[in-house]
Amino acid sequence: MKLFSYKDRPVHLGPYPLERLRRSQAQPRLGDVPAMQAVSFVEAGNPESLVNAMTRYIGMFDVVRDGSVTALKSEIPDDPQERSNHLKAAGYYYDATMVGVAALPPEVLLDTPIRNPGLPALVAELEKGQPKTFAAGIDVIYADVLESARKMLGPIPHHTHALVFLVEYTRDPAPSEPGTEWLSDSQAQRAGLLAANTAILLSSYIRLLGYEARAHTVTSSDVDLNKLAVMAGLARVNADGQAIENPYVGSRFGLAAVTTTLALAPDQPLASQKLSDRLRSHGPAWWLGKGTVKNAFNRVPYHSRPFHLGAYPFEKLKRRDETTTFIDEPRVPRFPKRADFFARAVFGDMGKEMQNNAKGGFYVQKSAIGACARRALGALLLLQFGEARGAISPSVSDPARNAANVKAASYYMATDAVGLSRCPDWVYYSHDAAGNEMKPYHKNAVSMLYDQGHETFEGASGDDWISVAQSMRAYLRFSLLGGVIAEQIRRLGYSARAHTVLDGDVLQPPLLLLSGLGEVSRIGEVILNPYLGPRLKSGVVTTDLPFTYDKPLDFGLQTFCNNCNKCARECPSGAITAGPKLMYNGYEIWKSDAEKCARYRITNQGGAMCGRCMKTCPWNLEGLFSEAAFRWLAMRFPKAARWIAWLDDKLGRGGINPVKKWWWDIELDRSTGQHKRAKATHTRGLNRDLDLKYEDQTLAVYPADVMPPPYPVSFPVNREAGIERYRSLLTPIEHKAKIARGET
Ligand code: SF4
Repeated sequence: MKLFSYKDRPVHLGPYPLERLRRSQAQPRLGDVPAMQAVSFVEAGNPESLVNAMTRYIGMFDVVRDGSVTALKSEIPDDPQERSNHLKAAGYYYDATMVGVAALPPEVLLDTPIRNPGLPALVAELEKGQPKTFAAGIDVIYADVLESARKMLGPIPHHTHALVFLVEYTRDPAPSEPGTEWLSDSQAQRAGLLAANTAILLSSYIRLLGYEARAHTVTSSDVDLNKLAVMAGLARVNADGQAIENPYVGSRFGLAAVTTTLALAPDQPLASQKLSDRLRSHGPAWWLGKGTVKNAFNRVPYHSRPFHLGAYPFEKLKRRDETTTFIDEPRVPRFPKRADFFARAVFGDMGKEMQNNAKGGFYVQKSAIGACARRALGALLLLQFGEARGAISPSVSDPARNAANVKAASYYMATDAVGLSRCPDWVYYSHDAAGNEMKPYHKNAVSMLYDQGHETFEGASGDDWISVAQSMRAYLRFSLLGGVIAEQIRRLGYSARAHTVLDGDVLQPPLLLLSGLGEVSRIGEVILNPYLGPRLKSGVVTTDLPFTYDKPLDFGLQTFCNNCNKCARECPSGAITAGPKLMYNGYEIWKSDAEKCARYRITNQGGAMCGRCMKTCPWNLEGLFSEAAFRWLAMRFPKAARWIAWLDDKLGRGGINPVKKWWWDIELDRSTGQHKRAKATHTRGLNRDLDLKYEDQTLAVYPADVMPPPYPVSFPVNREAGIERYRSLLTPIEHKAKIARGET
């Protein structure tokens, strides 16, 4: 919770008020900086430590820390300061706690580069063959990763600048704190892994822009990260000269960096602080958090919350035995992965234009700031499968203890919300991407939510050039953090599979409902969480590890969305229904027109993809103390939604805040591979005057019985029939009456 909004703070300044620290004009004496120490990701003394589960993940990041560079340089600003501001904002967006920029003097280059000792084992594992899955492009991903894994990287004396990323430690687990059995002595590895995540993304981004860039991590580096942090004004040598420290987080942080040939404007190093400086940086404005995300009271994550309960007070919410929307479990049909509209577009079911835009994931590739996550997502895809790595550990016999450990570890690693549930057979797809019949396998599911980020959404229309990055960022977060949890479960003796955006065998929305992570919203398949709003992406780990389940939530959203239709009004494709909930494939849902939505997202000409419904919803909140009143009112008096949405409009919420616009409007020219200035960019205001009526909408659905066969052959969409099918959908009352008559 914060008292003050950050609405006037540019994103490149970050969550901490680094601009209040006194800077030095002189270059720091790098010879005085204690040398960087590589971090070990093997915890031999405690085989159940989460550190061991992180090993393959930092290894895979190290494999893809360099790569091919786009031949033509992109059309980006020449001004080094503008570039630095942009890349710092991108670093904050991709979850760094602090970002600094440094020139790269030769003294920073390591005589003996640090190399990850775990890489040979990872390469040997990769050389055994690619995972048995039919995920799109798996052959290409596997070949690229294997080639990178075998490659020896050369020196980088020609790199001129560096971006440095600092990730703060979270609170240390307390002795005997529930759920923290796997977490001891893992702060350095956790922070190093998260910092590497940011560095891998930004290095990939800069290479897409046409400049050389290499990521450096706490396990694989050609540069001394300590010296770079001092150069970039993120740290200085502490009083005893034995370590470096940051004025806000002390020595509790991990580092990573990107070195590049892209010319940037460096930050100035930190100066020693006098008392007056200290008042400026750590005085009343810092205590109260005036204009910043961080303040003296919220500085340490989980300072006043147990890890296993998470950062948000989910324990205070009302729970029920059943979901607030009816799921006719015996009649929920399973259907093939091939039925997904993004797959249908690739197979030509929706025409040539859609096929051209969908092939090779062009709707992602065209925006470099989102596409930069693709390679890392592909690399982590190779790690998401797996059987148990040994016998079942005696430590996992108690389901309640397991639940606490899984949740606490997920939250500790930086997941935003976690829910545990059964994984019924009906959530599994019927056939894989190649048309092979699939059998349900695991019985339990760990569902995880990731915030897509309020701050950047504030500067966006929801369907402009940052839109696809909103999703990719959260997807990669799950691939990493969900992947670590799955690996930990395997190490404890149970098989586990992470279901990611690139390859998943289960439908996630019903699992989010069963595990108490949200309720069905008017947006359709988007589950809305009371603390994250609809601004989220999910991921699921399935397993047979026994754990206790969470119960479904009831926070009044069904009544609220019944009385609000702001998302339907603001949807640029008109895909969201302004009408009532209906039964679709066994679910009670505000059924959106998924075909319209997919067509818009895949062919969007003024941006890449779309998440405008999430941006404009009244539940998309900043996290201010004052907003607690909204949440209280919305949960207790959901019928007031009409007035709340009206007030939301009056306050201009859901509009664009130009202070928060940090990304460049550039798009991929497919013919040359160059990223050029975008020909068009959406800059939408709110449609306050639009009175959207259900009877004026034309929506279509394609229930399971008219979905394409599982095989990869074209099966054109029959929209006319789809419109008829929408009109014949039953209300939940009609559906239940039909069951009672024995007609299904
Ligand atoms: Fe529900 Fe209104 Fe949000 Fe749409 S905009 S999801 S109707 S609360």
